[in-house]
Amino acid sequence: MTTNDRLRLLAVVAITAAVAWASDSVAWGLVAGLGAVVLYAGLQYRRLVRWSRRPLTRPGPPDPGWRIVAHRLHRTIRSGRERSRKLLHYVRALQRTAEAVPDGWSMVRKSGEIEDFNQAAARLLGLSSQDRGQNILTLVRDPSASALFRGAEESEIVEIAAPADDTRRLELRRVLIDGDRTLIVVRDITELNRALTMRQDFVANVSHELRTPLTVIVGYLEQSADADADTVRTILPKLTSPVRRMQALVDDLLTLTRLESGGMPDEAAMEYVDVSQVLHIIASEARGLSGGRHRLTLQADEHLGIRGMPGELYSAFANLITNAVRYSPDGGNIDVRWFDGEDGPRFEVRDQGMGIAPEHLTRLTERFYRIDLAPSRVRGGTGLGLAIVKHVLRRHGSVLRVESELGKGSLFFCEFPASAMEVESQDRDVERSMP
Ligand code: ADP
Repeated sequence: MTTNDRLRLLAVVAITAAVAWASDSVAWGLVAGLGAVVLYAGLQYRRLVRWSRRPLTRPGPPDPGWRIVAHRLHRTIRSGRERSRKLLHYVRALQRTAEAVPDGWSMVRKSGEIEDFNQAAARLLGLSSQDRGQNILTLVRDPSASALFRGAEESEIVEIAAPADDTRRLELRRVLIDGDRTLIVVRDITELNRALTMRQDFVANVSHELRTPLTVIVGYLEQSADADADTVRTILPKLTSPVRRMQALVDDLLTLTRLESGGMPDEAAMEYVDVSQVLHIIASEARGLSGGRHRLTLQADEHLGIRGMPGELYSAFANLITNAVRYSPDGGNIDVRWFDGEDGPRFEVRDQGMGIAPEHLTRLTERFYRIDLAPSRVRGGTGLGLAIVKHVLRRHGSVLRVESELGKGSLFFCEFPASAMEVESQDRDVERSMP
């Protein structure tokens, strides 16, 4: 028993004794004592009620007995609040996660009523916040989607045109949550479809490109089966051209695959490339290919080199210069330049060839894209040259640009970042001058 408890007991005994003495009745004394106890308890109870309105900020009732009750209540309320705070935090994190999912989702009731959806679903299905509570069947009007929502569709996945943009394709997947609710997952598969189509087209193109020279080879081989030695001797040289074509195609395919599958070139694998020297080699090869039918001039800054992959750069420049020869009529001028341009080292090839109509310009670097198949084939083209150029330049921080006028000629050019520029060191000069 605490001192306060003793004092309170003493007060009650004093009141009881005083009233009993004054009234000359023990009974009245006891009634008064009991009344004092009840009054005190009532007062404490009122304080407790008042405190309970704001239990976490106000002090509890002063009486120690009641304070224990208040303290317990306080603890229960605090832990309850802590728990609901954690729960709220968890729910908000869940909401943020659900919003951040790049695929769309919508929770739909059995009746078709939309319960909730994220922003991706709103964008893909063209829903707005007012559509919560609406029937999905009236908002997404597609027969296979409706069958999926109603559960009538056997498959759990359907593909539809996006209601908000019919150039895009969506995949809708139904996931049963419980007896009353279904989750509809929405995914934009336009790019995936495009990639699949591109792959199928690529395989078809490669097969087609290989089949043509193969057919020629098989034809000659069949001819030579029953032929005498002299005839076979005349047939054999005819095999060279289709075989070379197949070889060129396979070489270009391998180059392209290597360029497309590899990431950016390793800094360690890069080296100083004497572009002027590379261009002189290509120019002399191109003059050989032209056989004197064109006038090819080369102006190259001898002191301007870049850091890069020599083999890849050779391949890109050679493709562009060879194209200028291939697609220029006899007598045309071809000017190749390598110089320090406004924004960095610049390479350009200008021809007075057949030129390119504007609608083809953006597609030139697609694999197997040819404006006219026959001239490309006749001139030994594989249709992969500019695709290779695009990848090589990208790996060197540059892009291929084309300016062209039909019937007048074309300008193919690219600029390398100024940071790629490198001056040939003394050591390399010494190495090169050594026998
Ligand atoms: P190809 O092996 O057929 O030359 P490319 O990828 O190098 O393939 O070029 C794609 C197409 O771009 C060519 O088939 C041709 O139609 C066009 N082209 C490329 N360079 C030129 C040019 N200098 N002048 C006109 N057309 C060109």
